[in-house]
Amino acid sequence: MTPPPAIELRRICKSFGPVQANKDISLKVMPGTIHGIIGENGAGKSTLMSILYGFYKADSGEILIGGRETQIPDSQAAIKAGIGMVFQHFKLVENFSVLENVVLGAEDGSFLRPTLARARKHLTDLARDYEMNVDPDAKIEDLSVGHQQRVEILKALYREANILILDEPTGVLTPAEADHLFRILRGLKAEGKTIILITHKLREIMEITDTVSVMRRGEMTDTVKTAETSPQDLAERMVGRKVLLRVDKAPARPGKTVLEVKDLRVTDGQGVERLRGIDLTVRAGEILGIAGVAGNGQSDLLDVLGGIRAATGAVTLNDAALSLSGPGSDARARRRAGITHVPEDRHRLGLILDFKAWENTGFGYQDLPKYCQGLMMDNRALREDTDAKMARFDVRPHDPNLAAKNFSGGNQQKIVLAREIEADPDLLLIGQPTRGVDIGAIEFIHQRIVELRDAGKAILLVSVELDEILSLSDRIAVMFDGRIMGERLPGQTDETELGLMMAGMEGRAA
Ligand code: ADP
Ligand code: MG
Repeated sequence: MTPPPAIELRRICKSFGPVQANKDISLKVMPGTIHGIIGENGAGKSTLMSILYGFYKADSGEILIGGRETQIPDSQAAIKAGIGMVFQHFKLVENFSVLENVVLGAEDGSFLRPTLARARKHLTDLARDYEMNVDPDAKIEDLSVGHQQRVEILKALYREANILILDEPTGVLTPAEADHLFRILRGLKAEGKTIILITHKLREIMEITDTVSVMRRGEMTDTVKTAETSPQDLAERMVGRKVLLRVDKAPARPGKTVLEVKDLRVTDGQGVERLRGIDLTVRAGEILGIAGVAGNGQSDLLDVLGGIRAATGAVTLNDAALSLSGPGSDARARRRAGITHVPEDRHRLGLILDFKAWENTGFGYQDLPKYCQGLMMDNRALREDTDAKMARFDVRPHDPNLAAKNFSGGNQQKIVLAREIEADPDLLLIGQPTRGVDIGAIEFIHQRIVELRDAGKAILLVSVELDEILSLSDRIAVMFDGRIMGERLPGQTDETELGLMMAGMEGRAA
């Protein structure tokens, strides 16, 4: 006889005001399996898991654990039922040690001291058994993100979780850390534990799950065996239409050098050198992709070139020198020179959230002749222009009068892209072009970037997504600790080599 599902959800419904985040969701997760849940942003994945972990209460529906109906009013009840959760944003206490974090909440405070020795032993055993390699006495704030995540997992195991839920666990990890996490998950599965893995990365689903469920607009639309599906099939089930996963592009036909950067250096307010002598070139009609783990200087590079941050060194655009500090080095001067910039941090730098879409479209370009009538801004021209841009970039809802904050992340992104791409730059700087963007919109954004390249423009792309770097770039430079570790051609390298370079190790000889 087959055992009952480790988890069974029956007809779960949950609304937030007018938003129906979970609609009539039923799901069975079999014990000892890794069950993936995929879906676009806002599909309802985190809501469903938060219900299972007692963070939200379902409006209706039932939860069965090991075949028995179980009430989960809070996370204490979830832990009692053997469920552990690793959140998208960790919930560790920064200035406490690993041991303190693991024990915290699991034991009564006043009994903490005598049990610490025992807890340390238990924790050390767990860490050894699962090859997690974390020091019980290390402070959380001194650990890498990958190690912090392991602490979250240890915390769940310490509480004897049989069911582990991970919500988008690899978003913050390097490829090597993600591989390590997957080894840990395989080990847990071999022990008979049940794992629910939420991700929007198809590759991860294919690599590690046994079964995969697809969510779309609050509904659980399909559950299939991983061996019987493909990335293409899953993408289509997620989006609900045909999508192009590979970027469809002809080989680049690079022309003259547009951007030349020599010995670029930036020192931040704390005296830390963020860029330590960057040299690179980008030619007309080519995409140079910068790969790297976030925080290794890529953002600083974009900010310097975009006129947001001062630097030393030499930068030329079409053979003309650009000022790197003082007057004439700001973003407006850069736009005049022919550089446009889709910043990584769109909320802070790309959009004024309280302003309407049409105002945002003109942002930075309001003094162009086509938007002016004498000395006044021609708001009607700007509004009509926005209307046309929104149509071309398929911004939804198609309403130039809606404030930027009322669009979803993907649509905000399209507003910034429309503005910067259609400004017809010689050089486009683009940071994390598809962060927080759904698969359908990713396809669209990638096509626009390739079109711009094919129109003979130079493009400097920064992304922490290696898939994106590999599929868009004509050349790839890897950054680590403020330096370029090396350059590779996409056809002559792979994720493993790039991953090593991203971690500061030399790749194979080119
Ligand atoms: P996913 O994890 O698949 O990206 P979520 O479960 O986070 O999706 O969100 C599903 C929908 O519910 C979205 O439209 C989101 O805006 C909405 N939502 C989620 N949490 C809340 C909340 N606490 N209050 C209001 N709306 C929410
Ligand atoms: Mg989520």
